[in-house]
Amino acid sequence: MNDNKYDLHVTNYVLDGFEHLMTDIEIYALKKSMTFSIEHEDGSNEDNVVTTLVKGKSLESKVQELLADGMKSFRFKTARRILNEHESEVLQNQCNQCHRLPRTSKAKQCNWCGNSWRE
Ligand SMILES: [Zn+2]
Repeated sequence: MNDNKYDLHVTNYVLDGFEHLMTDIEIYALKKSMTFSIEHEDGSNEDNVVTTLVKGKSLESKVQELLADGMKSFRFKTARRILNEHESEVLQNQCNQCHRLPRTSKAKQCNWCGNSWRE
């Protein structure tokens, strides 16, 4: 386990589970390219859509601005914004042993340290 992998997990956890905390423009930018842009936790990633998107005529300039540094950077920044502004909600299901976030917001077991909080 390394911190980069955990950072990526937090990004995916927040963006997968807390869509209601995103702004409309963030959702638009993410959805437009979601199929191609997700970096997977096994190390593979598909980030090449950004070039195509930025060239697209139909995108608002704001979306282009958000994606200017690439999808990976945009996903990271969006997740960090949500985490900063809604910390208690996002961290509600964090492990009480290692304080990391489990696989999903509904998980009852920590996939990082093995701690379980099933009833
Ligand atoms: Zn844990």
